[in-house]
Amino acid sequence: MGNNVLYIEDNPDNMMLVKRALESRGYKLLEALTGVDGVSAAEKEEVDLILLDINLPDIDGYEVARRIRGSEKKQLAYVPIIAVTANALKGDAEKALSAGCDVYMSKPINIRELWARVEAFVPSPLGPRGG
Ligand code: MN
Repeated sequence: MGNNVLYIEDNPDNMMLVKRALESRGYKLLEALTGVDGVSAAEKEEVDLILLDINLPDIDGYEVARRIRGSEKKQLAYVPIIAVTANALKGDAEKALSAGCDVYMSKPINIRELWARVEAFVPSPLGPRGG
């Protein structure tokens, strides 16, 4: 098992934040800025976990999750997907889970929560965080 995380996100600030946070824990971040590019990156690359923004400029994150789960690349049926939702109180979270995401986290992104969510599926190559 590798440590490649695909982040599908159109907001450059969030992309930079997550890139720094995950690279500091030894992960490799693959970036996709649209839903369609995200689906094709998941199909072309070796991906161990997907972080998925819901509000994307083309297809939304729910549709991205459905396409990934329905892909002809069979391991995408099982790759962990963490939805990152701006409107967790407005039903985004439930919709994300029914579209095939495993868990969700709310924006604004909290780095410690991000690390914990990611490490629950893919251990950091640097080992557990200290106290
Ligand atoms: Mn967005």
